[in-house]
Amino acid sequence: MKGRIIKNISNDYTIYSNESLYVCKPRGKFRLNEITPLVGDIVEFDEQNNYILSIEKRTNELIRPSIANVDMAIVVTSAKKPDFDTILLDKTLTIISYNNITPIIYLTKLDLLNTEELKTIKEYQDYYQKIGYIVATTPNELLKIIKHKTVVFTGQSGAGKSTLLNKINPHLELKTDEISDALGRGKHTTRHTELYDIDGTFIADTPGFSKIDFIGMKDIDIRDNMKEMFDNLHYCKYKDCMHISEDGCHVRELVKEKKILKSRYDNYRYFINRWFYENSNINS
Ligand code: ZN
Repeated sequence: MKGRIIKNISNDYTIYSNESLYVCKPRGKFRLNEITPLVGDIVEFDEQNNYILSIEKRTNELIRPSIANVDMAIVVTSAKKPDFDTILLDKTLTIISYNNITPIIYLTKLDLLNTEELKTIKEYQDYYQKIGYIVATTPNELLKIIKHKTVVFTGQSGAGKSTLLNKINPHLELKTDEISDALGRGKHTTRHTELYDIDGTFIADTPGFSKIDFIGMKDIDIRDNMKEMFDNLHYCKYKDCMHISEDGCHVRELVKEKKILKSRYDNYRYFINRWFYENSNINS
């Protein structure tokens, strides 16, 4: 039979298949191949003997927490208290895209904004949508977007993840709502990841990204996972243009013409500079 792993506790894998649950062990050969089944894996299993027989190829795989085949990551982003943070947002979007997951921007606390602030946020929203990101501002809108997908929720602390999850389903509660937990100050309780089936949508009860950082990424990965930096690359004079100081850079032209949002480009340069700084430190 075929099913989806939704939980793993001490090598007991709970598999969801045709609205039933089965608890299975992996077959020995996985250990030899150093493949460990992950929550989110689509597997073939023997329901008579409770063994996982094979694992389907993953579309992606997150390390901490370990979860496979995530379609979307909801980036819960506060418009105020904490203030709208384009650096954190752009960084998160870039890292999610790099992991082959579709990021969805979910704006919260719009009701705290005055008319002027609301106008500014609306301009940001329009821009992000224009360049190809999906933005939602109400739970209903979001529910339509994530229908039948496998999703994780992420975002800065205080942005309202728990409130949002509560509106989606009162039984859901994120195990930890602090990305910064991973910086080492957080609690180190052992926890497992679990996928919850909410009307055909699988929602992970962990934030999906234990730490939002560019670890493992190259500078070109940063470029190629920021939509307008990648989409306009082929208009630049040089195929390998990094949009920093090269001649004939179309991206820098678009920034001058205000067709690329200045904050997006500034954040891009900041990420690239920081990347160089961190990597030259490692090598020296
Ligand atoms: Zn360029």
